[in-house]
Order: sequence, then structure tokens, then C-alpha cells
Amino acid sequence: MPDASTNPDLGFASRAIHAGQAPDPTTGAVVPPIYQVSTYKQDGVGGLRGGYEYSRSANPTRTALEECIASLEGGDRGFAFASGLAGQDTLLRALIRPGDHVVVPSDAYGGTYRQFNKVFVPWGIEHDIAAIADVDAVRAAIRPGLTKVVWIETPTNPLLGIADIAALADVAHEAGALLVVDNTFASSYLQQPLALGADVVTHSATKYAGGHSDVVGGLVVTRAGVETARGEDVTEQVAFHQNAVGGVAGPFDSWLVLRGLKTLAVRMERHCDNAEAVVEFLQGHPGVTKVHYPGLADHPNHDVAARQMTRFGGMVSFQVKGGDDVAAKVCAETELWTLGESLGGVEALIEHPGRMTHASVAGTALEVPSDLIRLSVGIEDVDDLIADLKQALDRLT
Ligand SMILES: *Cc1c(COP(=O)(O)O)cnc(C)c1O
Repeated sequence: MPDASTNPDLGFASRAIHAGQAPDPTTGAVVPPIYQVSTYKQDGVGGLRGGYEYSRSANPTRTALEECIASLEGGDRGFAFASGLAGQDTLLRALIRPGDHVVVPSDAYGGTYRQFNKVFVPWGIEHDIAAIADVDAVRAAIRPGLTKVVWIETPTNPLLGIADIAALADVAHEAGALLVVDNTFASSYLQQPLALGADVVTHSATKYAGGHSDVVGGLVVTRAGVETARGEDVTEQVAFHQNAVGGVAGPFDSWLVLRGLKTLAVRMERHCDNAEAVVEFLQGHPGVTKVHYPGLADHPNHDVAARQMTRFGGMVSFQVKGGDDVAAKVCAETELWTLGESLGGVEALIEHPGRMTHASVAGTALEVPSDLIRLSVGIEDVDDLIADLKQALDRLT
């Protein structure tokens, strides 16, 4: 009988629920149990059952998550980490060495830029910042022979810029570099970077993958047959470094992300529906000077977004009249929109990137406009979400 846990021909929502998740062989439990265990009885020395030896190397709950995300991204293998940044750190150690050069986005998650700038620079990894919405700017930032990785996010955080994944894969490959795509903002449901030519995909599973603001985690997915600049297999290198560096996801965290992925498809449709309605409201409000959303026809890379995403996602940014102080007050005076960092959960969040998520990039090329407000549009009733924004904007702008 065909096995739903390994069948690549099933649709996305079916794989999200079944990939890597065959009913438990011992009990028939339909959900993979939380194997809260560090070590495994061996049947004679070296006689491992199912390959399990020690939970840093592999744990069945984590394996289920890793197989599920590999299937959802159409990749070779998935790897789960204790956080998005732990996954990125491990991936970079697998791909590059001191003396190498990386191109990083001018509009990146603040923690990603901090990792390149404050962690990898002292270890001898140089970078240049490029406006990744502009293919020529990325090509110009590449240092022939030295650049080993082009790192992009799309949509970007917090300005919702769009990078052309297929075009940038060509640019990277022409230079002998790999293209890594942080797919956190789009989620696997809205965008499939490996199919567009990317070599590796990363996620902060803390966001849409987990989806309930109750877990911190990271995911990395590799594509088969890709080699590092040193001629080593990327999947094998990431597998080696995951175990050797050790920043793995624990069993309970893996279980929470796996549970989140089961509803990713329905959550993302609702996030998108609500975001579209919120964008329409913001565009009509006199206190709003600019709305950033890839679904808008006047977004500079709307055509690219329409080509590479199935819908435009649940993240929206906008600028208000009155500058920094007004923006901060709007964020503080909503009721249903919770003032907080992070994104991608079922609940609506609002924040001021200049003072919060992006405070660490103030004074750098990545500084964001001070009158910018970022929304992670939740899946609450959209009329309630809009009424709450309206009361704050009517009073304060
Ligand atoms: C949150 C985030 C990260 C970092 O992930 P953590 O789980 O917080 O370590 C990386 N990239 C993007 C786009 C993010 O939003």
C-alpha cells in the first residue's frame, strides 16, 4: 500500500499533515509521540534500532519534523534547530570558511545582520550589503572567486521588499556561489525557493511554521546534488555540522513545530485574506503616508512577487504622518493588536521596528524609517482588527 508519510505526489496540505508522520509503529498513535529521551538501548554493541543512538544525533520526533519540512520545501533533507539563528549559524559553518565573502541583504532581519556583522566578521568572514530587489546591485556586490554565498530574504523584513529568486540563483551560480533563501516571511506554503533554483532554504520556525507564538525553532532544507565551493556535498556538510555543533531542536519543540505545520495551509490563506483587507483600509486612511505590501500593484517588485509567490502573505508595514513619536504611540494604543516582537502567530502583533526589532541596526546601512509600523496580521476576525487600527489612527494621526 502507498504510504502517505513518504508519498511525494500528495498535495501540500496533505503532506503538511502526513509527511514523516506514519502512525507510531508500537501503538498506532496518529501523531508522532514526543520522544523525550536522550539515549537508546542498543541490541548488542552497535545494534541501533532505526538508527537512533543519542538524541543530539537524531531523535524520532525531530526526524518526523525534518522529513515533513523537507517534503514541504521539495528538498533533499531537512534539519531542525533550537532557533532560526542557530540553524543559520550551523549552515554558514557548513558552507563557508574564514577568508570567504558573503553578500547579505540591505533589508534583513536584524538578528541575521548582527550574526554576519558581529559574529562572522571576527571569524574572518567578510560581507557586502546589497539591495537584493536589484539584481544588478547583487551582481556588483559579488567578489569573483571570494563570494561563496548570496544570502537573501524575500519578502524582506520589515520593508517587504521582494528579491527575484530565480534571477539571483543565476547570478550566484555564474559566480560559483550558492543562493540561500530565508523563507520565513513567505512560509513554505506561499513560496518554494528550491524549485526556483535556490540551493538552501532556512526558516525561523518560531514564526509561521510554528504559528502559535509558543516555540522558538529553526529549519534548514537542502537540495540534492549541491556542492560547497570546496566540492563537498551540502546535505552531508549540514548533517555533520548539525551534530558536531549541536544546536538541535529538542523533542517537545520539534513536536510543537510539527503540530503547527499541520495547519500551515489554512492559516496562511486566512493570514493573506486578513492582510489584504487591512492593506485596503490603511490605503484609505488619511493618517497613513505609505503602505508596504507586495500584493499592491505599485509595489516596485509586484510582478516578481506575483510570479514567485502564490499569495502575498500576512506581513504589512506602513508609515504614518507625524513621525517617530506618533508611530510609537499608535503601536502602544491598540487593544487587539498586541505590542510585541516576532511574527507569524495566529494573534495579531504590532511593533515599531526602529525602536524594537531593528534597533540593533540603527546607524548602519540597514536602518529603517522611524515612522514605520510593522504588522503581523493575525487570523482574528478582520473587522475587529480593522476597527482597532482605526481607533488608534483616528485619534493619533
Ligand atoms: C525571527 C527571524 C529569524 C531568526 O529566527 P529565531 O528563531 O528568532 O532565531 C531569521 N530570519 C527572519 C526573517 C526572522 O523573522
